[in-house]
Amino acid sequence: MGKEILFGTFPVLIVFLVFIGVNVAPFIIAALVLSLLMFVIMRQGGMSVTQKKTSVDTPKTQIKFNDIGGQERAKKELREALDFLIHKDTLKKYGIRPLKGILLTGPPGTGKTLMAKAAANYTNSAFIAASGSQFVEMYVGVGAQRIRDLFKEAKQKAEKNNQDSAIIFIDEIDVLGGKREGSQHREYDQTLNQLLTEMDGITTSENPRILIVAATNRADMLDDALIRPGRFDRQIVVDLPDKKARKQILEIHVKNKPLADDVDIDAIARDTFNFSGAQLESVTNEAAIYAFRENSTEITQRHFSHAIDKVMMGEQTDRESTAEERERVANHELGHAIVSEVVRPLSVSQVSLRPRGQALGYVRQSPQQDRYLYTVENLEQQIMIALGGAVAEEIIYGGRSTGSRNDFEQALHLVNTMIDTGLSRLGIVKVDMVSREALHEERQRILNELLEETRAVLRSFFPVFKHALDHLLREEVLNGDEFRAMIANAKNMVKKDNLEKIDTQLLNA
Ligand code: ATP
Repeated sequence: MGKEILFGTFPVLIVFLVFIGVNVAPFIIAALVLSLLMFVIMRQGGMSVTQKKTSVDTPKTQIKFNDIGGQERAKKELREALDFLIHKDTLKKYGIRPLKGILLTGPPGTGKTLMAKAAANYTNSAFIAASGSQFVEMYVGVGAQRIRDLFKEAKQKAEKNNQDSAIIFIDEIDVLGGKREGSQHREYDQTLNQLLTEMDGITTSENPRILIVAATNRADMLDDALIRPGRFDRQIVVDLPDKKARKQILEIHVKNKPLADDVDIDAIARDTFNFSGAQLESVTNEAAIYAFRENSTEITQRHFSHAIDKVMMGEQTDRESTAEERERVANHELGHAIVSEVVRPLSVSQVSLRPRGQALGYVRQSPQQDRYLYTVENLEQQIMIALGGAVAEEIIYGGRSTGSRNDFEQALHLVNTMIDTGLSRLGIVKVDMVSREALHEERQRILNELLEETRAVLRSFFPVFKHALDHLLREEVLNGDEFRAMIANAKNMVKKDNLEKIDTQLLNA
């Protein structure tokens, strides 16, 4: 609208100035320079999608569905949707309207881009990729122009390659297709409208046919116009991989790496609960880097173990701590580890005293199986594990330190989960309707009871602290099996008649 008003008023102004005898030449020259400048800016805006895109759009190493580990259900759904593109003549016969858009939703790094590339390969389509953020500009109209260019280019590319379809992949679609609210910038509106217009223009008879595959991890943020039938008709969830899928992904990424005989992919898959495909790829890469740094000809299980820690906790830091602090951290971590191993046997994979990221030490747990539902017992066990560090400090030093802040946050979060899900003594409640006092009381009751239980566990296994502490201070790392041997030893000691002895040790500690 602004452009039209400008173009309309300018000639009128010039005629008026000529009429009153003003020299208009400088105005005309200035206007020409200004238009040229705007044209260049718009061109650059339009170009950038193309330029950025070409860096990612030619999957030289053609990705196939077999190169994507796990995601069986998502792959199946996607393949079924793609068959619409392959058998388009049959669809025409039935009068089925073309599938225009597929929306892949899921957390970052789960393989959505890989899926889109595999889709292009499966359907022998030209592939063009762009990201939602590439369409967001402060100049009105630039984003819309980029959308037009993108569609044009996809068609040209398919024609050039003699392909009769093209897949446009738009990552982070939520950036350009977020819910439209009153105050929204007009530029977003225009860009989204252009995308909708282009999608509406897709017909069965069109050649080459365009299919849009978009990805987001915020499907709830998308504008309704975008997800209504006829636009993004298929929504496919690409979720975090389960253990079997993690194993498959790891196997894909270690194919080109020299592995030592001791590498146990199954154990790595078990230890990487909640990792995305991208994180698993990073684990294999970091393990190779550790091996390379050590000049080792093969990548060993130890390298993988370091790599998991690095991806989970961040790079090792050089934070210098005093001997006293180190000992306290070691006992704190042992507190977590002892409770973990006692309430969930075989759960400790490693206790480490190497500072990583923000943590001065940590316990890596390896769940025996992936868990998506929790019972009261599971939650209570988790709370006890979280409290174990602080309770260990309390028993050994007579008081806690600030190192337990995150543990308490975690414990409180779990207690709230218990209350919210009707697993507390309050029963099934709407939390907003319960008085603050009642909630506080219930939280305190749960925490106090579990604190008591945690104290009892750590008191019974007190001898483990002594043995494990020496080892941990010396070696910095204690692996799960070594630790379990110490627990087993302590269990033998923890016969009724030994309790007195332990109490004396406690008093002397
Ligand atoms: P984002 O949402 O952050 O854009 P994404 O879901 O598109 O992420 P990809 O870019 O497809 O994730 O994956 C990143 C990398 O992670 C891939 O190049 C690949 O190395 C690895 N990866 C992710 N998922 C898988 C998988 N299922 N199988 C094999 N490798 C995977």
